[in-house]
Amino acid sequence: MITFNLPPFTGNEEKFVLQSLKSPKISGDGHFTQKCHQWFEDKLLSKKVLLTTSCTHALEMTAILLNIQEGDEIIMPSYTFVSTANAFVLRGAKIVFVDIRPDTMNIDEKKIEQAITHKTKVIVPVHYAGVACEMDVIMDIANRHTLFVVEDAAQGMMSSYKGKPLGSIGHFGTFSFHETKNYTSAGEGGLLIINDEKFVQRAEIIREKGTNRSQFFRDMVDKYSWVDVGSSYLMNDMSAAYLWGNIEKANDINNNRLASWNKYYTGLLKLANKGSIELPTIPKNCTHNAHMFYIKVKDLETRSRLITYLKENNILSVFHYIPLHSAPAGLKFGRFNDIDEFTTVESEKLIRLPMYYQINDNSIKIIIEAINKFYQ
Ligand SMILES: *Cc1c(COP(=O)(O)O)cnc(C)c1O
Repeated sequence: MITFNLPPFTGNEEKFVLQSLKSPKISGDGHFTQKCHQWFEDKLLSKKVLLTTSCTHALEMTAILLNIQEGDEIIMPSYTFVSTANAFVLRGAKIVFVDIRPDTMNIDEKKIEQAITHKTKVIVPVHYAGVACEMDVIMDIANRHTLFVVEDAAQGMMSSYKGKPLGSIGHFGTFSFHETKNYTSAGEGGLLIINDEKFVQRAEIIREKGTNRSQFFRDMVDKYSWVDVGSSYLMNDMSAAYLWGNIEKANDINNNRLASWNKYYTGLLKLANKGSIELPTIPKNCTHNAHMFYIKVKDLETRSRLITYLKENNILSVFHYIPLHSAPAGLKFGRFNDIDEFTTVESEKLIRLPMYYQINDNSIKIIIEAINKFYQ
C-alpha cells in the first residue's frame, strides 16, 4: 500500500527529543524553543515569532490580539480548514466567505473589495498548498480600508511571494506543524508570526495565561501577575526539539519534496495536455514548497471513481476541504458573499496524491502509471 502521508523524520529528532527530556526545563520557552524562535526570526525577518500548541491556537491568538467582537466581519475563502473560521467565530465574529480562483484555489483577490462592509475587520488569505495568494493586491485593499491581514500560512513554510516568505507579509502569519504539514513538532504544533511591533508584548501575555511572565523571566518586572485575558498556548520543549530536527534539514526537506512534485508534474503532463486532468498552477511571482500534489478531474463522479480505482491498486489518495459555507456551522456562522462560481465545483474535482518527505520515486512512477491506465 502506498500511504498518503508520513510525518517528516530526518534522523536527529530522536537525539534532540531525548536531550530535551533530560534537561531541567521541558515546559515552554526552553532551549529548543529558543533555537527555533531564533531560526524563524532570522528567516522571516519578523518582529517576533512564538511557538504555539497548534496553528489553530495561533489563529485564535490573532483574534484576541485584534479585539474581535460580536458582529465583526472576517473575510476568508470557504475552501479552507475549519480553524481559519473557528478562531474568529469563538470571539463572536461573522464569517464572510469570498469565492476562490480556479487556478490556485486561493481567495480571489478581485472579489474581496465588494465583500467589505463597515463591520469588516480582517482579511484572512489562506495560501493553499503553499502557493501564495495575490498579497500585493490584498495588502493594498487592507490598507485602503484600514483592515488587518492574518495570513493562514499553515501550509506555507518555505514558500514565498515576490521574494517575501509567506507569513511575513500580513500583520500576522501562522504556521502549522501538524504531522500532515511539511515540518512537524512531533505531531501537533504551530507558530504565530507577528509583523507589527505593537502586538508583540500583548501576544506574549496572552500566550502565558494572561500574565507578564515573559517579562519577568527577562528581569523586566520583579514579580509577575495577571494583567490581561489569556490562555496556555506554549509548545512544550520536547515538541520544539523534534521540530528543530526538521528545521535543521529544512532545505533538504524542501528540495526533496519539490523533486517529487516535479516528477508528478512531468509524469502527468501528457494527460493534462490531452485535457483529461488539470495540473496545479504556480503563478510567476511565487515559489512554492510542494506541500501538496493535487490534480483536478472532470467532476465529482470521476473523482470518486479514480479514488476507488487507486485504492484497488493499493494507492491512497484523498479529496480535500468540503467548503465551509455549506457545512452546518458555516451556515450558522457565516455567509457567502456574491455567487459561488468556483468554490464548490472546483473543490469537487480535486484529488490529493501521496506526498511526503522521501516518498519513493518508484511509488510516484506506479501512481502516474495507474492514473494513465484509468484514463485509457
Ligand atoms: C492544517 C491547517 C490548519 C490547522 O493547523 P493545526 O496546527 O492542526 O491547528 C489551519 N489552516 C490550514 C489552512 C491548515 O492547512
